[in-house]
Amino acid sequence: MSRPVLRFAPSPNGRLHLGHAFSALTNARIAARLDGRLLLRIEDIDLGRSRPEFVQGILDDLAWLGLRFETPVRCQSEHFADYVAARARLSARGLIYPCFCSRGRIAAEVAERRARGEGGRCDPDGAPLYPGTCRALPRGATEARIEAGEPHTWRLDMAAACRDIPGTLVIRRFTLDGSEERVRADPARWGDAVIARRDVPTSYHLAVVCDDALQGITHVVRGQDLEAATDLHVLLQHLLGLPSPAYHHHPLIRDEGGEKLAKSKGSQSLADLHGQGVSADTVLETLGF
Ligand code: GLU
Repeated sequence: MSRPVLRFAPSPNGRLHLGHAFSALTNARIAARLDGRLLLRIEDIDLGRSRPEFVQGILDDLAWLGLRFETPVRCQSEHFADYVAARARLSARGLIYPCFCSRGRIAAEVAERRARGEGGRCDPDGAPLYPGTCRALPRGATEARIEAGEPHTWRLDMAAACRDIPGTLVIRRFTLDGSEERVRADPARWGDAVIARRDVPTSYHLAVVCDDALQGITHVVRGQDLEAATDLHVLLQHLLGLPSPAYHHHPLIRDEGGEKLAKSKGSQSLADLHGQGVSADTVLETLGF
């Protein structure tokens, strides 16, 4: 039987913090237990926020922690053609549609509907569900608008996608002792999610399912903040005919106030700790490794 394959997949839009260290170390621990391979993937589709120095920072921080990954490292920004091909397959099946709404337009539409007592549901990240404004635009008209260069995203037609599900859509969840359970996915709670953005021909969701399949990932180990997104990921895997890995969502490392660590909130980075003379061993011990 082939060996399990795991991956750590950080985004290079800042330096890694203790939360990333915990995730990378958890991946390495599970890979070792399963005698699996461990890959590194740089999730740099956000071209505005990703920087080469942060990619180097990721490599330095992981080496400092004593973690080794197989090479070559896959960088998502070098593989947009893979995501465009997947998007084209969804489009050919009529499962996605172009959406020309700006954020402001969506907010106004949602507010209007709420004032009329309609809608009001939010996705698991707390954003109002897309009200479907562009879902039924005639194809000829949307093609002309795209041709004319009008900015647009691509959204999943969730109702159409859900009609494609045979019976129950399942997520395989595994625990640290290796036992597995099957839980029911509920992708509909994401509504017509964005599958490809205005500025790049993919979204996190589309890129992650394509890459997990292309890299032969069998076990996904990542933070609980991405647990709800897995419902959407297994749906995309089903629609694209891709294999579905088993998932483990680990607890998040939080600050004293109970908030999850974030680069955007200026959480102390591993590089800061290193610079202050903290040893990698101390970091490992603090995180329970
Ligand atoms: N790139 C994502 C992050 O840095 C992780 C994606 C994943 O593990 O699926 O939060």
